[in-house]
Amino acid sequence: MPDTAALAAPAAETPRPALSVVVPAYNEEAVLDAFHARLAATMDGIGLPWEVVYVNDGSSDATLARLLALRAADPRVALVNLSRNFGKEIALTAGLDHAAATEAVVVIDADLQDPPEVIPELVAAWREGFDVVYAQRSARHGEGWLKRTTAAAFYRLMQRIGGRVELPKDTGDFRLMSRRALDALLRLREHHRFMKGLFAWIGFPSRAVRYERHPRAAGTSKWNYWRLWNLSLEGITSFTVAPLKVATYLGLATSVVALLYGLQVVVKTVLFGNPVAGYPSLMTVVLFLGGVQLMTLGIIGEYLGRVFNETKQRPLYIVERHLPSGSPPGARPA
Ligand code: UDP
Ligand code: MG
Repeated sequence: MPDTAALAAPAAETPRPALSVVVPAYNEEAVLDAFHARLAATMDGIGLPWEVVYVNDGSSDATLARLLALRAADPRVALVNLSRNFGKEIALTAGLDHAAATEAVVVIDADLQDPPEVIPELVAAWREGFDVVYAQRSARHGEGWLKRTTAAAFYRLMQRIGGRVELPKDTGDFRLMSRRALDALLRLREHHRFMKGLFAWIGFPSRAVRYERHPRAAGTSKWNYWRLWNLSLEGITSFTVAPLKVATYLGLATSVVALLYGLQVVVKTVLFGNPVAGYPSLMTVVLFLGGVQLMTLGIIGEYLGRVFNETKQRPLYIVERHLPSGSPPGARPA
């Protein structure tokens, strides 16, 4: 685990902000200026010293240039530039690692789907003593029927197999965490990062604040159904080993069925002298068993692959450049 305190330390002369806002950005050139303006206006209304940590996740457009310009204009902007695209979950982790906040951090998307204007409500709930305040969507504007139903099915499934850890419904990564909750989260260094699961795993008193999720302000969503499917797999496999038990019970069930079928064949042969069962039934059974075996092998493979990835113990991400907030532009490239 990297020394996160050392990573996050801003220039010595600047006091650490109370709040950090962490924003992963991948090809967000179209919305960043609007986002920052709205964020700054909202954060200034809260009345605590704050910074915003933008993580450029290997964007191929002008996102980095926009962020450098923002930082030149506003000393409260910190910038973490990753060496390539690592994916949102890891970009988010990089931002959290570099958050200098002493009191709390807020995680928010750059695309204005999560309105920055909700942040004061998160802060208010945190002031009441909740360590984790997550924003819960009460409406999903601009998202199709299929995305809504698949998301709902996923949450239901996770609820059933999640066991002790409860995954709050209709929440994304948009949330506030107290410093101690953040420190707990940062101790989880696994490579397969299902952030919603990790957020839930740390526990602490938490509360929901409802808000309306808007359609993207500009640019395009980086998600598609294949990625959502993979995210669900990630969620299930890093959350629970229940699928492994499926293999056990499937095996058990097929054994019982096979035994009954065998008995039936014996009885038929002895009583009625019917010697040979037909080719179609044989074929069906062989294919069925083959399918079940391949599927359970696949499930085991999913877990094995993740074990393989974790054992390599690579760092989660590589930072190309870290410009902390509060120091004069270009003064201390770290
Ligand atoms: N994002 C990122 N790296 C990626 C993909 C996305 O940092 O590889 C950021 C993106 O810039 C945005 C947030 O993660 O701030 C959410 O992405 P997106 O809007 O594409 O996801 P959706 O809202 O559709 O779930
Ligand atoms: Mg989005």
